[in-house]
Amino acid sequence: MDGRESALREEIVRVMVAMNARGLNRGASGNVSARLGEGMLITPTGVPPAELTPAHVVLVGPDGQWPAEGLRPSSEWQMHEGILRGRSDVNAVVHCHSRHATILACAGREIPPMHYMVAMAGGASVPLAPYATFGSSELADAVVQALGGRNAALMANHGLIALGPSLSRALAIAEEVEEQAAVYWGTLAIGGPTLLSDREMTKVLDLFKTYGQTRVGGA
Ligand SMILES: [Zn+2]
Repeated sequence: MDGRESALREEIVRVMVAMNARGLNRGASGNVSARLGEGMLITPTGVPPAELTPAHVVLVGPDGQWPAEGLRPSSEWQMHEGILRGRSDVNAVVHCHSRHATILACAGREIPPMHYMVAMAGGASVPLAPYATFGSSELADAVVQALGGRNAALMANHGLIALGPSLSRALAIAEEVEEQAAVYWGTLAIGGPTLLSDREMTKVLDLFKTYGQTRVGGA
């Protein structure tokens, strides 16, 4: 194992612990992956963050195989693999069942352009991927298709997925989408949001590109 693999394993554990600490996830649900060469590192199935160690993280090869010894990868490994395969701009994927994103996902709603920070997910809205059974290749396909070129999507009757060039960025997007989901949910209790125009959201998306990856959210 080289230094990069060790560092990624440690970072994946940190992200899982952070998701729990920040209320994005509970128990053993949720999973995190990062690209490593032609394959990926991904959290194992059924291990709560408090018990997770870097050695538990599973290396899945480009052929979809993992070592016979050690733990099995997350049941959602095909979803992570499909995203990483199709998006050369993405190196990390975070999936969680954060409360407000999941409320919207269970109500069959996407997040509309009601706050400029919605654009952090890479579009004027956060799309909703149609429902398919957890861990299925149908779910993987539905999520890849709903994402298109964007960085986050809600998953109907399930949760949230966020991606980025790095683990820290993917986590930051997941946190922001959960916050936007909470705000949208709140507006629905008082008559619904006032939406921003396509023109304004296009302007914000352009500004976010100019700001660069690390500065987004500073405004
Ligand atoms: Zn899930």
